[in-house]
Amino acid sequence: MYDVLIIGAGVTGCAVARWLSRYDARICVVEKEEDVCCGTSKANSAIVHAGFDARHGTRMAELNVRGSEMMEALSKELDFAYDRIGSLVVCLNEEDRPRLNALYENGVQNGVKGLAVIEREELVALEPNVSDKAVAALWAPTGAIICPFEMTLAFAENAAENGAAFFFDTEVRALERMDAGWRVETSNGVLEAKAIVNAAGVYADVLHNLVCEKKIHITPRRGDYCLLDHAAAGYVRHTVFQLPGKRGKGVLVSPTVHGNVIIGPTAIDVMDREGTNTTAEGIAELMQKAGLSMKNPPLKQTITSFSGLRAHEDGHEFLIGESVPDFFDCAGIESPGLSSAPAIGECTADLIAKRYGFSEKSNFKATRKGITDPKTLSPEAWNELIRREPAYGQIICRCESVTEGEILEAIRRPLGARSLDGIKRRTRAGMGRCQAGFCSPRVMEILARERNVPLSSITKNGRGSELIVGTAKDAYAEANDEA
Ligand SMILES: Cc1cc2nc3c(=O)[nH]c(=O)nc-3n(C[C@H](O)[C@H](O)[C@H](O)COP(=O)(O)OP(=O)(O)OC[C@H]3O[C@@H](n4cnc5c(N)ncnc54)[C@H](O)[C@@H]3O)c2cc1C
Repeated sequence: MYDVLIIGAGVTGCAVARWLSRYDARICVVEKEEDVCCGTSKANSAIVHAGFDARHGTRMAELNVRGSEMMEALSKELDFAYDRIGSLVVCLNEEDRPRLNALYENGVQNGVKGLAVIEREELVALEPNVSDKAVAALWAPTGAIICPFEMTLAFAENAAENGAAFFFDTEVRALERMDAGWRVETSNGVLEAKAIVNAAGVYADVLHNLVCEKKIHITPRRGDYCLLDHAAAGYVRHTVFQLPGKRGKGVLVSPTVHGNVIIGPTAIDVMDREGTNTTAEGIAELMQKAGLSMKNPPLKQTITSFSGLRAHEDGHEFLIGESVPDFFDCAGIESPGLSSAPAIGECTADLIAKRYGFSEKSNFKATRKGITDPKTLSPEAWNELIRREPAYGQIICRCESVTEGEILEAIRRPLGARSLDGIKRRTRAGMGRCQAGFCSPRVMEILARERNVPLSSITKNGRGSELIVGTAKDAYAEANDEA
């Protein structure tokens, strides 16, 4: 019997697990996919929103500002990439100035520090490639960028190190109330827990509606992106937003913490909760819209496109709390869910700890060390590392200069990578210009060797995505037999 069972190993579930692992309680996280960070948390803009956008007085606003304030210290404690580059909301004509001022006022009311409306001259000095039409902007110096994979993995690994159990490839299918707690039916057998946390992203309404009389409804709202090569670095220095509209924050142009440029997202409501395919219309729309706030975006440098699904709840609010006894929702966590994740983790864990009288652990380990990145070392230190561990001298991914040593670390750590995408999210092998064309076979060989499994069982992202489906020799023989 677990004290708390968390459904979903996205950033929300992992944050709740991390903050709950400060307490003396038996915790587990149940995830239907093969790894941490396989849902919306892996496909978003990766912005730490300063907190001026969410409507004042909402839970979304409160947790966004708190999360943004926690983020820098947390990035040091848990060793994930964070860069406070600041953000700009660009106003493209004088008629829109009242909307810009309203955004400023809302931000001030939310408690965002350092906000200012700046005029064109100052804006151009900050962002030389801004549109010729820009007349003013809202400057938020606390806006930042992070790596969403690293952050989610950092929460999960730290929770695991502090005793939380993780079950992957395990889908929660039914919840049955027992005298005390819940019987949780999964695709991998039955689990029991005193309390449930529903952090199931775009499926959070399905789980909520299984047990709550007051139903909720989530629409998957797709956002398409283009990711530009390192060659485009320097084109934009801050996160540049357009004025937000009814359907969200609009198309942004921003640097990433890894030196790329990201452009997106669109906002297209879809029916399919797994529908993360991009479409030609979506990409065309964002290409057109990117050019509104920034001059001549270097779209020819696009190396990939992708999309993510916002869990848009009808009331556009975070639904956090005990919805029925022993069932805690973290539902409707759309943007700014990433920015708010530390605050959501903290407040949900505190609520549950208080409710069940959990006491704080004396041996909680608050810090965690990420994977060694030799590129951050001096040449002398890297050489010394190679002398001790020759694998750090073997480059496996040429585009992102990822070594075999990093890939081995990614496999051998707690909650280690089991697939190509798992390695990619932890090390960036396959994230570069060639999009894994070069390194995939080599990463597969390392995974097979380390896990002592046949090469043919290595997947891109879990069951059903095996990359080797047969041998050329067999296929040739079969074709000849048919002939
Ligand atoms: C286009 C886009 C742009 C965004 N940009 C930003 C941004 O710049 N800044 C920001 O702060 N936020 C942003 N967000 C929002 C942010 O990405 C999300 O709020 C956040 O990632 C949600 O995390 P989550 O853990 O709640 O959901 P998810 O990451 O989707 O995790 C839910 C998990 O639950 C699992 N699950 C579902 N059902 C079950 C089941 N029955 N059994 C077991 N497991 C289950 C899923 O497989 C999934 O892994 C953006 C979102 C989108 C889509």
